[in-house]
Amino acid sequence: MGKKALLINPWIYDFKAFDFWSKPLGLLYLGALLQKHNWEIYLIDCLDRYHPKLLNSGKKLPKVDEFGRGKYIAEVVPKPEIYKHYPRRYKRYGLPEEIFRKILLELPKPDWIFVTSQMTYWYLGVFSTINIIKETFPKIPIVLGGIYTTLCYEHALRHSGANYVLPGPVEESLFRLFPEIPKYTFPELPFPAFNLYHKLDYVTILTSRGCIFRCNYCAVHYLVPNFVCRTVQAVINELEIYAQSQIKNIVFYDDALLANPNFSSILDEIKNRRFSFQFHTPNGLHPRFITEEIAQKMKEVNFKTIYLSLETIDSRLHDLYDQKVTKNEFTRAVNNLKKAGFDNKQIHAYLLIGLPLFDFDTIKESIDFVLSLGVTPHLAEYSPIPHTQIYRNNFSKNLSEPLLHNNIIFPLLNSEEKNKMAELKKYLIKIRQTSLLSKTK
Ligand code: SF4
Repeated sequence: MGKKALLINPWIYDFKAFDFWSKPLGLLYLGALLQKHNWEIYLIDCLDRYHPKLLNSGKKLPKVDEFGRGKYIAEVVPKPEIYKHYPRRYKRYGLPEEIFRKILLELPKPDWIFVTSQMTYWYLGVFSTINIIKETFPKIPIVLGGIYTTLCYEHALRHSGANYVLPGPVEESLFRLFPEIPKYTFPELPFPAFNLYHKLDYVTILTSRGCIFRCNYCAVHYLVPNFVCRTVQAVINELEIYAQSQIKNIVFYDDALLANPNFSSILDEIKNRRFSFQFHTPNGLHPRFITEEIAQKMKEVNFKTIYLSLETIDSRLHDLYDQKVTKNEFTRAVNNLKKAGFDNKQIHAYLLIGLPLFDFDTIKESIDFVLSLGVTPHLAEYSPIPHTQIYRNNFSKNLSEPLLHNNIIFPLLNSEEKNKMAELKKYLIKIRQTSLLSKTK
């Protein structure tokens, strides 16, 4: 065996966090790549609800829903000074610290440690994880990668405590540290190393990476500049492995799943193989691509939850920010999905809230429009993301501290707007409580 690597998905530090089908896919691709080059790999996913040490700890664990989603176990931690005014408890989500320390101590000493990162404003979880790793393995080099690292490279370099900071897709950056591992393209990567988990309610999969759109508020084009698709055969071969492992839920992580020209053929092949998965699409689908034929095929192969990107019904805002959907396209998509047999409970729509120029009357109208079609609306709270056009135009000077990117503190809203926002949330809760959705079917 070659070198030993320890891969770590760190804690989340935030006011709220929920496992909405979240897995560290980049880290698992790295694991697979290193395995392919004969490394021995160990994984600690601090967000793993089924780590044996956690299961044996006697702690009461949060419930999981029928599709594998659920709360994380959490502990209250001191709030950073910058959030002192915000009247909510700040928490560390994931494995309790003593369990994490115990797992570290019982592992064989690695040669390298790789830590990933997600949201920019979760970096305290990353730093805290790195600090504890250093106490256990003070001489082992730590490599930090992932989304925060790519979006806030200078910050990570200066403050993280990692020995190496590697921004960008791992298959393109790894060779800088390990010249013996050649550069790969995304479609050439081996399947992500889900075999490192003890138990899984779901796996996440990509048929493509990147996006064909360039919305002003999104950083996908910075994280992954090109839209690249995998072959039908590669996706099906990966699904075959999950079928053999009795995985029930498959979660598509693509940013533009329906823009993949292979998607229709992937659905045909899933049908031919008679897979018995439940499929989910938590990253909003682009309604304009939901034709009658695609909707029909998705229903036939057992898509269970459909999330659509609408953002707003205001065409002026779409012209300004994203140009990705019109009201008519959304209506047509919903009609096609209903015709194919999807019911109200399965179809969801994301509406953006908190962006400059998004007024609350329009958001309320958008909610009512979505409800009128019998679709469940979800408010997606905008958070400023470095390297997006909106960030460059509005925030690059005063939001250099990533904790300020947290959508929960809403840097864009004044107190009157915050009240309106709270009213909208109450309105949505009331709608759900009065089961308006079932009546609108
Ligand atoms: S369509 Fe979605 S993933 Fe693509 S750029 Fe817009 S927000 Fe980002």
